[in-house]
Amino acid sequence: MSKSVKAVGLLSGGLDSTIAAAMLMRQGIEVQGLTFYTGFCVVEHNRRSKTRKRKKPVRNEALQAGAKLDLPVEMIDISGPDYLKVLTDPKYGYGSAVNPCIDCRIFMFRRARQYMDEIGAQFMFTGEVLGQRPMSQRRQPMNVIDRDAELDGLLLRPLSAKKLPPTVPEEKGWVDREQLGDIQGRSRQQQMELAEEYGIEDYPSPAGGCCFLTDKNFGRRILDFFEHEGKENLTMDDVMLLKIGRHFRVKPDVKVVMGREEGENKFLERYTPGRWRLETKDVTGPTTLVEGHPTDDDLRRIAGMTVRYAGSKADPGATVACRYEDSERTLEPSPVEESVVEEWRI
Ligand code: SF4
Repeated sequence: MSKSVKAVGLLSGGLDSTIAAAMLMRQGIEVQGLTFYTGFCVVEHNRRSKTRKRKKPVRNEALQAGAKLDLPVEMIDISGPDYLKVLTDPKYGYGSAVNPCIDCRIFMFRRARQYMDEIGAQFMFTGEVLGQRPMSQRRQPMNVIDRDAELDGLLLRPLSAKKLPPTVPEEKGWVDREQLGDIQGRSRQQQMELAEEYGIEDYPSPAGGCCFLTDKNFGRRILDFFEHEGKENLTMDDVMLLKIGRHFRVKPDVKVVMGREEGENKFLERYTPGRWRLETKDVTGPTTLVEGHPTDDDLRRIAGMTVRYAGSKADPGATVACRYEDSERTLEPSPVEESVVEEWRI
């Protein structure tokens, strides 16, 4: 078996892809890690936006996994118009939220294949386990993904390899199929045992909640945008804003985004141009942005909601500054009822 064989491994930093890399490294394969930034990664969003105060810095798990295994990891930013088309017009539809997982995998695998050719690697691999995830890790979708991503048998899934047809690296003898896994299903028992065998410790808890697109609440915001703004108008700037704060649809053409704490308030300030910005005067409260064309009555009610979220510090009678470009006015609204807030909430 040649030791000069090189493979690109899609690393999430989770246990499965870390074990897959360790498994191949043990067979003498030179592994180059690869991770993608889609613009929808929860951890990467927290790391980059710094909207919340945290006790510990947020770490990128893929880079951490690479450091632990002593292998290089490349991060490629695929966020942007091409990736957004995957979200707005997925050929294979959505999962239980607005998650276009099959199309997303095809997009990523195509890019990974390109990267594999660029660096002169012979094949690529993932930590996918047959039957572990409902949408993209069943046999039939896996076949569709491999076909549409034009992988030509060059994608190995080491953890489930013995449950799947042999791939090029196995047929060519670059890797020994006998030393690969036969894991299938959602139990993680075998992975735990392998982690112990490979000395892999301190891995993040199993995936879930790592992608905004699998979050049903976030999905509602996306669908609201599609309905009122048109999905063809979605930009990464919109996506950034959709990930922050509380969102309310007051009327078809009036939407509110409100910060939940100081970091988010500061973050929202950057998005002020072209929007109304409301803030309580004299007491601490949320920063509220208003998109669309609010009437005076709308603004008064939104100011009332801003007072409501300022909490007990804002007695009835608290004043709210409403600014748009160079103009400013001050309102003294009554806090709006909880039932109204819930009706507006996206
Ligand atoms: S959860 Fe689905 S949509 Fe999100 S990154 Fe993974 S495959 Fe893509």
